[in-house]
Amino acid sequence: MSSSKIKAASNASIAEAASLLADGQLVGVPTETVYGLAADATNPVAVRKIFQAKGRPANNPLIIHVDSPESARRWVHVDHPPWLADQWQRAAAFWPGPLTVVVPRSADVVDEVTAGAPTVAVRVPSHPVMRSLLAACEFPIAAPSANPSNYVSPTCAEHVRQGLGDKVAMILDGGECECGLESTIIRLRSDGVELLRPGGISVEQLQDAFGSVTLSQAAEKNDSRQSDPLAAMPAPGMLAKHYSPSKPLRIVDDWRSDEIDPSRVARIVFAPLADSEAARFGWYRSLSQTGDLNEVAQHLFTAIRQADTTGCELIVIDRCERSGIGRAIMDRIDRAAG
Ligand code: AMP
Ligand code: MG
Repeated sequence: MSSSKIKAASNASIAEAASLLADGQLVGVPTETVYGLAADATNPVAVRKIFQAKGRPANNPLIIHVDSPESARRWVHVDHPPWLADQWQRAAAFWPGPLTVVVPRSADVVDEVTAGAPTVAVRVPSHPVMRSLLAACEFPIAAPSANPSNYVSPTCAEHVRQGLGDKVAMILDGGECECGLESTIIRLRSDGVELLRPGGISVEQLQDAFGSVTLSQAAEKNDSRQSDPLAAMPAPGMLAKHYSPSKPLRIVDDWRSDEIDPSRVARIVFAPLADSEAARFGWYRSLSQTGDLNEVAQHLFTAIRQADTTGCELIVIDRCERSGIGRAIMDRIDRAAG
């Protein structure tokens, strides 16, 4: 049974995961953002397995994970010009943590990782299990989210088993992800940074560190419902419809309760409804007792997955202000709504 592939993180299971990776196999790994589908980033054959397993388009590059800003240096060119060296330092101050930086790549990076691009996306994760795994590996780890392409990202080991259990050699169980949303992705520029994907690090934090944050077209889902999202896409993964459940998902103020009986609705809220109100729905889940948006982010994907398996026909979800972590929450909800 593939459930036996889930192993609680321990020195022994981390060592086993490292040796499977060194052997060119795929392993599901915990990070503070979401679970990753890991491979040895220096092994083109192993990296290609990631694309096959996920059904990921070959033009959508991967993030490489390293254990420190220093170990990143071999894979990036950030010494010149001086503004780039300076921006790199500012970015590195967020590490370990949920910030991915797109910078010029070194010749040592294999083409499969970057989809042939002259840049590479790199991150130092903070999850202690992922850090131990990186310490046990002599190579960086390429890891996109461990879900079939376009489905909701996994935030626990069981989600990985459900989506990719037969495609991985092992799943390292490091518990529920703390952040629950993917990393923020930025491109470093001489005049500040460009936001390619909102995530665990907020725009406000980036503004404090870099002064100027340009919102790329792809990162602005609201403005990007154009006919061909790939045409103007600085991060090819930022498809307008992404992170999608199988059932239709609607944001609450786009939904009228007279169009479908609430008993056929799976309702996800950010803070508890009154019991009488909650009882109207076929299925109901509150993501936080107090409406705390960090808790909402942490539990969002699990709730969408659960809602997707109910007998309900439609998922209806709350909205929040697009500031702080709320920007990334609404980005994922917009994309899930498609
Ligand atoms: P995932 O790890 O599944 O969240 O996907 C990684 C994300 O990083 C995708 O949206 C990619 O398009 C993006 N990405 C990776 N490498 C680059 C790069 N060199 N330039 C721009 N975006 C990148
Ligand atoms: Mg992904």
